[in-house]
Amino acid sequence: MRFLRFLQEGIEYTGVVRKGSNQVVLLEKICPRFKGKSLTEFIQTYTPEEMKMIHEVLADGETKYSSNAPTLEEIKLTAPISRPLHDVLCVGQNYWDHIEEVHRYLGEEPPQRDASVYFTKRASRILGSDEPLVGRFDLDENIDYEVELAVIIGKEGKDIPKDEVDTYIFGYSILNDFSSRIIQRKHTQWFKGKSVDGYTAMGPWVVTKDEFLHPLAIDLSCRVNGEVRQQSNTKAMMADIPTLIHELSQGMTLEAGDIIATGTPSGVGMGMVPPTFLKRGDVVECEIEEIGILRNMIV
Ligand code: MG
Repeated sequence: MRFLRFLQEGIEYTGVVRKGSNQVVLLEKICPRFKGKSLTEFIQTYTPEEMKMIHEVLADGETKYSSNAPTLEEIKLTAPISRPLHDVLCVGQNYWDHIEEVHRYLGEEPPQRDASVYFTKRASRILGSDEPLVGRFDLDENIDYEVELAVIIGKEGKDIPKDEVDTYIFGYSILNDFSSRIIQRKHTQWFKGKSVDGYTAMGPWVVTKDEFLHPLAIDLSCRVNGEVRQQSNTKAMMADIPTLIHELSQGMTLEAGDIIATGTPSGVGMGMVPPTFLKRGDVVECEIEEIGILRNMIV
């Protein structure tokens, strides 16, 4: 099941779409108490009975809920979660081939690590698919892309055991961790270079975890103007999702609606020879198997 947010006549709605369908059913028609509420508010407060009801309505196909429903082609998507609860939780250098390319660019030997790198990224408004990204070339011309699998937390938890991680996940989405490479290096810590307004895009929707086989082994790729730049599979992650959520939750509460960006594989612009960064007019498409395509143009 896909949960999405979209605009219709200036009003933003949460919609649900059955796998294989393109008919968008308004969540508020199935569960009226979520009228005007964000997807985060749904994730924080839905009951198992409500989720079962949504499943049943969608499984039913043509019903009173979907007779006047718009299709995916008719709506303008926004990010499924347009504002994170806090900052976006990010994993740095979680694919070995990306670590190698970064350190080749820096002229340094790649480090041997036995623990993950975590950082956060400010995103006061996350862009949805097909929303343009306003590049701040005046601040830093080295704007780069990073396709990442985003995990959406579904239940509050702390000190989560590895074998219970699955019960804390709501679903998955695609995140583009746009980055300003000069700013990122200048300030040593990555936060500032990752946090330019608009430099986080997520979408096109959140797919619930029940639609995936676990452990996850899904392809992810990124294209710039149709040219494949990144291509990998989530099984190449150095720290897998159970490890990341177990580790992040040690002594730190993860909340329902939190977004974890799980790192990017090789092929970013910084790693190309010579380095090749984004320019105005470029179209970046991030694709993840079983989820879809997140597309943004740089303007
Ligand atoms: Mg990243």
